[in-house]
Formats: sequence, C-alpha cells, structure tokens
Amino acid sequence: MTVELLRELCEAIGVSGDEGDIRDLILKHIRDYVEDIQIDPMGSLLAVKRGTGQVKLRVMAAAHMDEVGMTITGFDSDGSLRFQQVGGLDARILPGTRVLVGPKRLPGVISWVPIHLNPSEDAVAMDRLRIDIGATSKESAQSGLERGDLIAFASEFVELGPTVRCKAFDDRAGCASLIKLIQGDPFPFDLHVAFTVQEEVGLRGAKVAAQRIQPDVAFVLESTACHDLPQNPDEPDQTTITRLGAGPAITVMDHSMISDPRLVRHLVRIAEAQGIPHQFRSPQHAGGTDAGAIHKTGIGVPSVVVANPCRYLHGPHLIMSLSDWENQSRLVRAAWMELTPAVLER
Ligand SMILES: [Zn+2]
Repeated sequence: MTVELLRELCEAIGVSGDEGDIRDLILKHIRDYVEDIQIDPMGSLLAVKRGTGQVKLRVMAAAHMDEVGMTITGFDSDGSLRFQQVGGLDARILPGTRVLVGPKRLPGVISWVPIHLNPSEDAVAMDRLRIDIGATSKESAQSGLERGDLIAFASEFVELGPTVRCKAFDDRAGCASLIKLIQGDPFPFDLHVAFTVQEEVGLRGAKVAAQRIQPDVAFVLESTACHDLPQNPDEPDQTTITRLGAGPAITVMDHSMISDPRLVRHLVRIAEAQGIPHQFRSPQHAGGTDAGAIHKTGIGVPSVVVANPCRYLHGPHLIMSLSDWENQSRLVRAAWMELTPAVLER
C-alpha cells in the first residue's frame, strides 16, 4: 500500500509551476485527516493536523511537490523543439532520454548525433539539444504545443528488491512520508503542513508558506543526492555525500542553511535511543532545500532537514532504498513525539 503511494506520486507529473495534479493527489490522501485546508496564492497546499494539545509549539512540516523538468523555448523548421531547463539539470544525461511534452503528455525523445557521426568527445550543450516528437514540420509541431509548455521525464516506477526506481523521488518521497505522518496518530502539537510549489527553481513556495504559518520550528522532509558507488581505488577515503541504505540523512549544513544544532542533536538522540538508522549528509556539497527559505522568515525559524538518499538525483531514473524511506517517517515521527519547548531552550 505505501509503496503504491510512492508509485502514484512519482509517476504523476508536476514540473515546477504546474503542481496541480500532484496537489490533487495529495489532497485526496490527506483530506480526511486534516483541518483548515488552504491552497495559497502560490499554489502550495497548507493544512493543519490537530494534535493532543500537550505541547504549545507551532510546528511546520514541509515537502515540495514540484520536480525538475524542461520548457519549450521554440520550434525548428524540421519539427523539433528547442527547450531549456526548469530547475537544475545536467545536459550530459539528457541525450536519448524519453520525455513527455506539454499538457497532452506527447511522447518525445531528446535527440543527439549518433556515434557513427560524432566520434569526438564534444561537450553536450543544452542549447544544441532538441526534442523529437515525430513531427515533420514546424507547423505540425506547433499544432498541439506552445512555447512555455512544460516537459517532464518519462519514467515508470519499478521495484528492484530493497530499492525502487523512478523519476521525482525528489521530493515525492518526502511528500509520501509526510502523508503517512498525517494519516497516523496525532502528535502532542498541532502540525502545520505545507506541500510546497517551486522549490526546484529557488525555494519560492516555501518562503510564502512559512510567512503565513509563522512557525516556531520547522522540519523539511526531502530527498537528497547519493553518490556511493565504487569510487577511485586510488582514493578510497573519498567522502560521499550520502550512502544508500544507511538511513535517512540529516542535513547539518548545505548552501542554503545551517540546520539548527538543537534539532540535529534531538534527532540523533531519538534515533540512537530507538535504534533508527540515520546518517549525516556530507556538508561540503552544494544544494539547498525549502528549509533555506523557511529558516529566514519572520523572526527566524529553527529548522532541520531529514532526507532520503537518492542516486542519480535530478535525472529520469533515481534509485532509492525503501528502508531509508520508511525510516524517514519513522525518525521524524519519533522526534515529534518527544519534541517539547525544552528542546529549543538555550
Ligand atoms: Zn528536493
């Protein structure tokens, strides 16, 4: 059942700026468990899960609904589409990739010169790539599409033993964990949830969501990069960002924020006490999350990120460990059950 939730959320399409389908799916799963449902002017889905009232803290939990993708920038005379990225994409992984184009999800493939004609090691430049939807003229390509239409990776959800493979675990896996937490037993406090828009283009939805919620403390449920495959044997001690299967990753610091050390200590203490696997996301790597926007709103918000390690992040086929994902909601739930104002005392 819960794996089916992941499948449903990850196969659905919601490139930044067009998160409506994802929002509808999430709403279907949380509607019966929350109050005060609002879709804010940016498009983020906000709601409150009532708690037992023992703890007086305004706690915000966020996960972003959007995924990286592309957008049409023009039409060539041969019927191919020019495009640019929406969110962070590496042009080197794009040639040969299957995509779904525009609101009708037209199947396309990102073109490249075959190896027979392209033996040199030319760098891949995004502005030289095109999308081939099988159209034979500019007019026929334009008949069902417009500039600005969004393009998503085409990717089906596959279970591979202890791991799963699909696009968009970043951050539908975080959304799915948050849904599970919402559907479970109440917490000692009211939980203010935000399923945010436009994280991948600059943490935009989370910024206004946090301004509305004005939380005392925030937890961001994310997915993050993993690079743990065999490395250079000459450098065996090379640091990896995270490892698959080693548990959810607690972010200490990234390019957008420094996690509140009191919250990091709280998470580690709870994880150790309850035997929940966990790891730290190596801090020297780039990247940011909704917490980068949330922690700077209002008078400042102590914030922390708990993330699912995913290989091949921001690509069409991510690989994630099911146990890491299950332990993400387990760790956050355990931490919330013991979250009190004392955790935040100086
Ligand atoms: Zn993300």
